Amino acid sequence: MPDLHRRPKKGATAMNRRRFVQTSLAAAIAASLPVSQSFAAILSASMKVDADINAVTGDGAEVTLKRTAVQELGESLRGNLLLPGHEAYEEARRVLNASIDKHPALIVQCKGSADVKSAVDFARESDLLVAVKCGGHSFSGKSTCDGGMLIDLSTLRSVRVDPKARIAHVSGGSWLGDMDHDTMVFGLVTTAGTVSHTGIGGLTLGGGFGRVGRRFGLALDNVLGVDIVTADGKLLQANADENQELYWGVRGGGGNFGVVTNFDFRLHPMDRQVIGGTVLFPLSEAKSVLNFYADYAASAPDELYLDGGITSSPGQPSASFLHVCYSGPMNMADRIIDPIRNAGTPIVDGIQAIDYVALQKSGDISDPRARGGYVKSGFVSEITPELIDDILYGFEEHPDRGMTVVWQHAGGAIGRVAPDATAFAHRHVVHDTLLLMDWPVAIDPAPHIRWLKEYWATIEPHTHGFYTNDTDESQQKIHRNYGGNYDRLLALKNKYDLTNLFRLNANIVPTV
Ligand SMILES: Cc1cc2nc3c(=O)[nH]c(=O)nc-3n(C[C@H](O)[C@H](O)[C@H](O)COP(=O)(O)OP(=O)(O)OC[C@H]3O[C@@H](n4cnc5c(N)ncnc54)[C@H](O)[C@@H]3O)c2cc1C
Repeated sequence: MPDLHRRPKKGATAMNRRRFVQTSLAAAIAASLPVSQSFAAILSASMKVDADINAVTGDGAEVTLKRTAVQELGESLRGNLLLPGHEAYEEARRVLNASIDKHPALIVQCKGSADVKSAVDFARESDLLVAVKCGGHSFSGKSTCDGGMLIDLSTLRSVRVDPKARIAHVSGGSWLGDMDHDTMVFGLVTTAGTVSHTGIGGLTLGGGFGRVGRRFGLALDNVLGVDIVTADGKLLQANADENQELYWGVRGGGGNFGVVTNFDFRLHPMDRQVIGGTVLFPLSEAKSVLNFYADYAASAPDELYLDGGITSSPGQPSASFLHVCYSGPMNMADRIIDPIRNAGTPIVDGIQAIDYVALQKSGDISDPRARGGYVKSGFVSEITPELIDDILYGFEEHPDRGMTVVWQHAGGAIGRVAPDATAFAHRHVVHDTLLLMDWPVAIDPAPHIRWLKEYWATIEPHTHGFYTNDTDESQQKIHRNYGGNYDRLLALKNKYDLTNLFRLNANIVPTV
């Protein structure tokens, strides 16, 4: 059995780099106060609001929230109202990326749809800026804000599995690991991302690439329905029979239409044991390893998920790497995996028979949240020799920052869905190209971010569209990125969120 508590070597893989940023933050989120202490702090926040509160509207104007109104909001909740000054507030306002340091005017920690409705009603009536946080992994910090209301779903985590119907009912604040853990016990799975601390909400609403995505589609392709609190405070069910247009839109339209309090996911039978892990090669072999990757990943069966890339981190030897999850027939495994091991001269060969849930957690790190991060990404349907050359030419090791370029594998079942069947249009995607950088939070990130942007300028021309979950682009680019689905999404936004209450996302700006 794999060691579930083993910490992956820092910088050992590109996905570890990504996970490092994520898990550092997640660890801090998880580091909660002792129960009695936090309960007292929360209770006093909920019970007694001392003064009026200064806040900001969605348009950035200042607004004063009356003490009595805020107190009434707190008293209406089953969850917690947190205000600045309380220790629990400090933890709740944090997101994964340590370079994002924002202070909401108030935080509503929701325990159910009723709390979400109370929060949404209050925010709408006060015209407040609103952020919605699930796992807090938005690289660009979309799930928090300065001066507005943070609707924190971290207290809304549960999974109910119906093994007979092969459906998982997953609360809107859950983490991917919650779902993997509960479904795999029944020999069932659905696509989730590669780091178990990621939130189900943000990942699914924008897409959801993962280790079994080539077999079962994106996370959003497996959504059978959602419960969603829309901007008018209504709790709607959206599925194939009810509110079909909204059901279409939430599968790729991100958090634009409301707060999802529950997802119903289709589950698929799968053996727990897969072949998974990472093999590292010297950086000097990067060109041939990446060329191998381009060819092999392009012709892979759906049961093979293969990431590839290069990575460097201070104090560690830089490397190229391949990361595998093979979930097909075991009698074929050697034939499929051996060429991956032999793509170069392995420094570390971590590919092994492994429990799927353990593989899904294999990059989770419990380091305190101490790293800032920045990412650029774009989709490609083919990895050309020119793209590999540009990646290698621009890649630089640096004593202060970690840097990883990784191709996340897509294609397979993801590409067999029509671009307009859901709001996620990018069905041509075979790889998401990610440039991930992180740094100790104490240093000035500006020169590093500048460098990454320059590097990205040489890579972007090879890409076609981008993953809205990864990156923070201009409004114009975001609109274009929705492709042929944009007009339909805009009509939905105009119908469900005329005032753009839900704007901290890959925003569709309403036009009426
Ligand atoms: C370390 C790391 C690894 C990653 N790996 C993958 C991967 O393997 N595959 C992949 O596809 N992506 C991956 N991502 C990207 C990921 O999809 C996004 O970061 C996503 O936003 C994370 O979801 P979250 O709920 O944690 O985000 P949050 O930061 O909590 O939320 C992001 C946005 O999602 C919306 N939102 C979240 N929950 C809800 C809800 N319940 N209702 C309505 N709106 C909601 C809000 O608009 C919010 O601003 C990774 C990111 C990181 C940092």
